[in-house]
Amino acid sequence: MRIAIGSLQCEGNSLTPIYTKFEDFDYAPGEAMYDEIKVVDYFREHGCELVPTIYAHALPGGAVVKADFLRLVDELVDAIPTEGIDGIWLYLHGAMYVEEIGSGDTYLLKQIRAKVGYDIPISVAMDFHADNTDEIIRMVNCVTAFRTAPHCDHKETQIRAAENLLRIIEKKIMPAPQMERVNVVICGDAVQTALEPLKGIMEMAEQFERTVPGMLSVQVFNGQPWIDEPYMGPSIVVTHESDTAIAKEYAKKLADAFYAVRHDFKFLIEAVEPDEAIRRAMTAAEAQVFLSDSGDNTTAGAAGDNAFMINRLQRAGAKNVLVAGIADEAACEKCYQANIGDVLTLQVGGSLDKNSETATITGKLIHRGDIVSYTGGNAGPSATLDCGDMTVVVTKNRASMCRPDIFESIDLDYTPYKIVVVKLGYLFPELAAKAERAILAFTPGSSTERLEDMNMKKIRRPMFPLDDDFQ
Ligand SMILES: [Zn+2]
Repeated sequence: MRIAIGSLQCEGNSLTPIYTKFEDFDYAPGEAMYDEIKVVDYFREHGCELVPTIYAHALPGGAVVKADFLRLVDELVDAIPTEGIDGIWLYLHGAMYVEEIGSGDTYLLKQIRAKVGYDIPISVAMDFHADNTDEIIRMVNCVTAFRTAPHCDHKETQIRAAENLLRIIEKKIMPAPQMERVNVVICGDAVQTALEPLKGIMEMAEQFERTVPGMLSVQVFNGQPWIDEPYMGPSIVVTHESDTAIAKEYAKKLADAFYAVRHDFKFLIEAVEPDEAIRRAMTAAEAQVFLSDSGDNTTAGAAGDNAFMINRLQRAGAKNVLVAGIADEAACEKCYQANIGDVLTLQVGGSLDKNSETATITGKLIHRGDIVSYTGGNAGPSATLDCGDMTVVVTKNRASMCRPDIFESIDLDYTPYKIVVVKLGYLFPELAAKAERAILAFTPGSSTERLEDMNMKKIRRPMFPLDDDFQ
């Protein structure tokens, strides 16, 4: 069997003014993509010949620049042969947002179908935060998605999508996935799959997939809430080998179950106003507290350049603080023109998003070097300043210090600090495993956790909890 494989991902945020460019992607064309995806061995062990296209993943961000997106789509689609392939395996996020285009995933699939037609099956692995359009579901033959949030089944999901593709090819079937939407909007940080109320629904989905004869895949999506489009929000996508009525029936069952627990979604971690979060962190009995600057969460697409928390922490007189980190190209550049040990006064923040605050910091330059990116590549230069009560990491590009290896990449030991400020919502699993206590601060920004601040204009209505209760 010959299988074409490709992956193009950037989780979008339509509320931020920043754009995502080609340079923001970790990009691996042709066989270089084999190092980035987890299905190469699986396919080879099952006797498949692979046809690589491209792998391109970016840190979540604003709309992808149209010309840069089209270049990536062209490269991916050009590398898919029109003949001589038995199936296509794709690994997409499902909430890619593109300048003037909207859903990038939909556009990509349209180009692929325009080229290869509808006789070749497409199996897609997706993120739990995909905002599925009707067209995405119509154009693919099987949808497989993460079962965990925070995500820790990247590899398993990719392999499940590969298994489903081989099953489709071997049985010579062309399944049509069915989708039911759930008219609720819940910020990602109130939805963790290991905890109720979603835990029970995830278990139902797995059980249906395992026990219903002919069932290929039963998937629950929360969607990415920071995209102002009618297709934003949770959905259930069910793929049955041959029976679309059964698929629809189970999708409806799960959508009803999800809607029924809508009142039970609460923030699953300690989540308070910024000043209260700082007060709690300063007076905590624990040796260390992580503070999430949730409104400027780069892993939800925000700019990562808001100095709001630096200003609040300075005002509160907080001591032994690590700010990890803030994006400011000009400030980072100044650090590269100075010498290690120099004392610098810098303005940081507000260079990418006009709504972000700026702050003035004075500190000794203690480290310089490239920082590992969200996707494991290189996020570019960074500088660390010891400002006395506060240590601040300034990055040239947007970055996310969401895993210990990213701190290690700039020789930064976060363990001695009482307060570690991160531009995240809930902590990523690798960091959460080491955190004694984590508090989410309701800070302002384009990844605000407050639905009323999102100012959504195009989403479907009525939508719980924005509108009164409805059925
Ligand atoms: Zn996600």
